[in-house]
Amino acid sequence: MSSRCAVCPGSFDPPTWGHLSLVERGVLLFDRVIVAVAYNSSKAALFSPEERVEMLRESLAGYDPDRVVVDSFDGLLVDYARRQGAVAILRGLRATGDFEYEFQMAMVNQQLAPGIQSVFMMTDARWLHLSSTIVKEAAFYGVDLSAMVPPPVAVRLREKLGRPSPAVSV
Ligand code: ADP
Repeated sequence: MSSRCAVCPGSFDPPTWGHLSLVERGVLLFDRVIVAVAYNSSKAALFSPEERVEMLRESLAGYDPDRVVVDSFDGLLVDYARRQGAVAILRGLRATGDFEYEFQMAMVNQQLAPGIQSVFMMTDARWLHLSSTIVKEAAFYGVDLSAMVPPPVAVRLREKLGRPSPAVSV
């Protein structure tokens, strides 16, 4: 039987528990999930693509490396997905606000690569409110990040924003 691979693309600036939940549920559907950091995102990023890859690798270290792979890509997502032999592009949906952009992207990707399906998973309700933007804001104000991001990401955010972790502050 052929193995089914999905590419889960995004900015991951930084990765949150919401992203990890998407991957966790993605491996229930696919044999292999490639979490792919986009180099060419139009959003201004806090972390370099290399740092985002490292944070994802640290946060996803518990998975079988054959099932969850972290990578990065430049250029068109569908070209990358094709090169990886992916049958799907896996994305998450939080609130209705995500829908319009995701719908447009899915339509364009369908035209460019009819053989690759866009698959959407609803967020886990626990992470409905989480976005990388909110996390960066919380980190800036020194909020405890443990309910938002995995420990390796919290450490990097503290380093980047020059704020001590509540766990180590005196
Ligand atoms: P992009 O800039 O491409 O939207 P993101 O890093 O913001 O990249 O998101 C990557 C993927 O993770 C997207 O499909 C997004 O919908 C999903 N995602 C982000 N946050 C959550 C969350 N809290 N719950 C579920 N999915 C999420």
